[in-house]
Amino acid sequence: MKKNEIVKVKIEDIGTAGEGIGKAEGMTLFIKDALPGDVVTAVVMKLKKTYGYARLLEVITPSPHRVIPKCSQSRRCGGCQIQALAYEEQLRFKQNKVRNHLVRIGGFAEEEVRRWMEPVVGMDNPYHYRNKAQFPIGSDKEGNPVAGFFAGRTHTIIPIEKCYLGVSCNEEILDILLSFMRENGITPYDEASGNGLVRHVLIRYGFTTKEIMVCIVINGNFIPRQDILVERLSAVPGMTSISININTRRTNVILGDTVRTIWGSDYITDYIGDVKYQISPHSFYQVNPVQTVKLYQTALEYAGLTGDETVWDLYCGIGTISLFLARKARMVYGVEIVPQAIEDARNNARINGIKNAKFFVGKAEEVLPDFYEKRVSELYAAEPDRTATEEDTDLESREPDMLHPDVVVVDPPRKGCEESLLATLIKMSPDRIVYVSCDSATLARDLKYLCEGGYEVRKVRAVDQFCHTTHTECVVGIQRKHI
Ligand code: SAH
Repeated sequence: MKKNEIVKVKIEDIGTAGEGIGKAEGMTLFIKDALPGDVVTAVVMKLKKTYGYARLLEVITPSPHRVIPKCSQSRRCGGCQIQALAYEEQLRFKQNKVRNHLVRIGGFAEEEVRRWMEPVVGMDNPYHYRNKAQFPIGSDKEGNPVAGFFAGRTHTIIPIEKCYLGVSCNEEILDILLSFMRENGITPYDEASGNGLVRHVLIRYGFTTKEIMVCIVINGNFIPRQDILVERLSAVPGMTSISININTRRTNVILGDTVRTIWGSDYITDYIGDVKYQISPHSFYQVNPVQTVKLYQTALEYAGLTGDETVWDLYCGIGTISLFLARKARMVYGVEIVPQAIEDARNNARINGIKNAKFFVGKAEEVLPDFYEKRVSELYAAEPDRTATEEDTDLESREPDMLHPDVVVVDPPRKGCEESLLATLIKMSPDRIVYVSCDSATLARDLKYLCEGGYEVRKVRAVDQFCHTTHTECVVGIQRKHI
């Protein structure tokens, strides 16, 4: 096989970035926009020893699962990867991906994995599910301000104001912002030169409360004629918070450190189940609220709480799972690396009147082993600005429960858990571990370790949080073997 050669390929699988995978002349080829079941022609672009990359030329026989994507820009835009695959088939792909990882990486027997796996939980309507959108602002060839999305792996803005994953108020808000910019000569930011004012607009929508937040990210300190913009934006039904975020650095990071509210409240409120959360522009919050409830309900179900349990929630973010579980547990202890998230978690506990949740800042793989070896007093020493309170003394009396909790929930980022953390979990020997995972490859690796340490998998349920993308979220119920 040579570069620029045209090959005919039957696509068998989907790669991590959504590309089709097939074989030709003994080589594995990755072909963007080709789907499993397609027979395509493609031109070879880049070759390695056993695999290569090719560009799709023509779909000769389309996959029976091919559909016409709702979004006309789905091939160019970096947001969705598999919109052209029928939704049922997307779900099947995700279920298979989890199963294959458990078999290949986890080393579990296929029949066993099939027994654990419950049906994947999809959405009834897999569109307009995102409660957060971040549109880059730039200019078209004539210099007019445009908003849109970055083309896959680039920083070229595709001007689309209608995204099928986002909520409908996004379009209205973009329309107001762009006309305001045009009428008042407000310049879009230009990445190449570092000049221009408006960089991004961040929009968040509370699905339950219907509250809207708009945060305009600017390369400067203020927006000229801001009052006109505020007047128009505040007239959008549901508008609750309008702010500017100052980001004057030449960076790809969207938000700068400073946020100034220019109208309304500093935050919007939303609910997951019956737990209330205050969300500010910097807060982390799950983007698909409809599926998040199903994900957390699964975690709750697998945790098997009766009201009397001690639970650790590791990688707790703003305490979403912790607070969801606290209603059904005696005590929940959350651990999270980002201090601001822990501040949000404590605040969220307070506004919900939840008193049986405590939060610690630090790396899960340090806090838990340190605690296990050195006990509670050391845990507080990690937070020097705190002085011991009566509550803390109370906490010390709970030490035995904390050392041997009933349930530990982990929800790590894609790289999974550090081995030192898993080793400590095995020593703490909770009866149940609930593993919430956004990467089934590292999940499989970690399950192997836990199962070698005296645990067994009971159930696995994938929940589709990110429809039309290749991201796959799942929950695993793990039980300590009773010897
Ligand atoms: N459970 C939360 C957040 C999950 S996302 C929810 O459902 O909303 C994973 C979280 O792990 C992020 O908040 C991230 O900041 C945090 N994190 C990343 N590495 C960590 C580590 N080593 N120790 C503790 N938390 C970590």
